[in-house]
Amino acid sequence: MFIDTHAHLNYPDILKNIDEILSRAIDAGIDAIIVPATSYQTSIEIVELVQKHKMLFAAVGIHPTELKDFDEAQLPKIEELAKENKVAAIGEIGLDYYWEPYDKELEISVLTEQLQIAKRTGLPVILHNRRSTEDLMRIVKSEYDVGKLKGQFHSFSAGLKEAKECIDMGFYISFTGNITYKPNEGTYTAYDIVRNTGAEHLLLETDTPYLPPVPYRGKQNEPSYLKYTAEKIAELKGIEVDELIRVTTENARKLYKL
Ligand SMILES: [Zn+2]
Repeated sequence: MFIDTHAHLNYPDILKNIDEILSRAIDAGIDAIIVPATSYQTSIEIVELVQKHKMLFAAVGIHPTELKDFDEAQLPKIEELAKENKVAAIGEIGLDYYWEPYDKELEISVLTEQLQIAKRTGLPVILHNRRSTEDLMRIVKSEYDVGKLKGQFHSFSAGLKEAKECIDMGFYISFTGNITYKPNEGTYTAYDIVRNTGAEHLLLETDTPYLPPVPYRGKQNEPSYLKYTAEKIAELKGIEVDELIRVTTENARKLYKL
């Protein structure tokens, strides 16, 4: 049995088939899925969604590309939601300097406040990074406090040096189905990180509905496809896929208290 630590199952296209998608996930051996929010509104919706399905767990938080309707008053409400049943993390939060226009200053302040919510509530964080490695690493390091800030750098897109820094702070890293794509500069870096990082520092995720692994590239991703990413990572590390699944599942259970 294994865990998809990142699937946006609250999107309308997925919700309308949620029962079939979850039953395919169960058939594929998945027994828990974390559904990260991207805004205050989706945080409310996901906390409700996870009460209806035993295998689902929520992350609440505000994503850096969803700050259009941001209002400072949402942060204490996120902190309240974080105390609800089956909320496993604060996420997904982070920085994104790709989708223009972006407001670096606002992104940084919303991220920093949510890292502080995580420390106060004792929940781990799920971090998003797009073209913002330097600022993200600086902020996480400045908020880091041994034992008090933990979490996952999801869809890891920084280099080997940053991967080592994350691991030194006790964070986990994860790659999506794009690690199965035809090798390019990005995948070579990911290969290098996977080969140089012990399974005890890794998690598995799909990032549903995005980035489906080969052979489903171009389709809508879903948790049942997670094994293809796991197989690729195990192959790169030269270990059995069952061993990778066993260790990463233990990591996810420990980090998210599942
Ligand atoms: Zn995501």
